[in-house]
Amino acid sequence: MRTVDEHRAALLALVSSLPSVTVPLAESLGRVLAADVVAAVDLPGFDNSAMDGYAVRSADVSGASSASPAVLDVDGDIAAGDTRRHVLRPGLAMRIMTGAPLPEGADAIVPVEASDGGVARVSLTLAAEVGRHLRLQGEDVKVGDVVLRAGTHLGPGQVALAAASNVAELTVAPRPRVSILSTGDELVLPGQSLEHGQIVDSNSVMLAALVTAAGADVMGSGHLNDDADAMASLLQDMPGQPDLILTTGGVSMGAYDTVKEVLSTTGTVEFVKVAMRPGMPQGAGVVGERRTPIITLPGNPVSSFVSFHVFVLPVLRALAGLDPEVPTTQSVATQGWSSIEGRAEFTRVVLGPDGVRPSGGQGSHMLGALAEATHLAVVAADVTQIRAGDAVHLLPLVGQDSSRGHR
Ligand code: AMP
Ligand code: MG
Repeated sequence: MRTVDEHRAALLALVSSLPSVTVPLAESLGRVLAADVVAAVDLPGFDNSAMDGYAVRSADVSGASSASPAVLDVDGDIAAGDTRRHVLRPGLAMRIMTGAPLPEGADAIVPVEASDGGVARVSLTLAAEVGRHLRLQGEDVKVGDVVLRAGTHLGPGQVALAAASNVAELTVAPRPRVSILSTGDELVLPGQSLEHGQIVDSNSVMLAALVTAAGADVMGSGHLNDDADAMASLLQDMPGQPDLILTTGGVSMGAYDTVKEVLSTTGTVEFVKVAMRPGMPQGAGVVGERRTPIITLPGNPVSSFVSFHVFVLPVLRALAGLDPEVPTTQSVATQGWSSIEGRAEFTRVVLGPDGVRPSGGQGSHMLGALAEATHLAVVAADVTQIRAGDAVHLLPLVGQDSSRGHR
């Protein structure tokens, strides 16, 4: 049997990274930067006012108070967006709005709240030290600064920073294009009536969701019966020229394990046992003239789900030019559980405030408890018992983001 790491390495050897792509800012949310973003402008771009008020020379309002206001003539208005270059003469004030450029000679702002609001002449009731209520050019970001590093996940804040830095397009990791094929005579589409012996094809829906949540594109997702000829011809020439094909089902030791039957004869796909639970039967290789990488996942839904996290996700990351390794986090077990000897076990767990506990049923066919899980606990092959209080390594589940909703 292969170890998990050996099998993952064999899969990664099948793929190389796709070229990065350039997208407009509006399409960049959720993507991963493939190149540093360098500020094209200073932020702020020019000295400007942080308040609606009056631009002054600090010396002209020194000692001003309600009891003894400084009274100055007002030499016009400066609104945000005013592109003229104003000069403030000594002894005068200019009415200025938030974000408007500071006139040359001014060194402080007195907020409108500390004035009588005068337009021709203003009474200012507050002294303002040099620099008061000013936003200085480049105090946030300087032109040429790297504002975002390659590898950054682009959320709203990152997109805003790129926009403010006057960068209109971003170089991002490509979205690998994935075709998904579920196999099995027993499968019917969700929503149809089931005859005795039939089940709903949940894997193709699950895998499409996982692929999408992992930042890749689903090229097509469908189902085939256990029909060797149909499968062979489809896999030889997969429509849409995907970067990766995923199949589920038909790879174990049964008589109608068609994926294995069809692909074993190609000589380009290997079927192996991996020392893990769930997910022991695995297969991978390349198919068709384009030698498209293919990963054949087991049919049991939980095996397929776990295999996606352990094997497919690193491959998608490698295709996208990212570090294939998915970082694990740590927590503690709040209750014990036992684990099979000699195989790495991926236990579906629920992370709570005090640590993790296994989610309900752990059978590889049990989806009921899968939907409750937040992480996979990675239990090494030589560990047979997790005790309450033990440290546990956790793989986050793809697409689990607590900010998106609450169960
Ligand atoms: P197989 O690997 O084809 O022998 O399938 C193993 C188990 O997974 C069987 O109980 C199948 O009915 C089930 N299974 C296979 N494919 C799917 C699917 N697409 N959705 C849900 N269950 C499946
Ligand atoms: Mg089957």
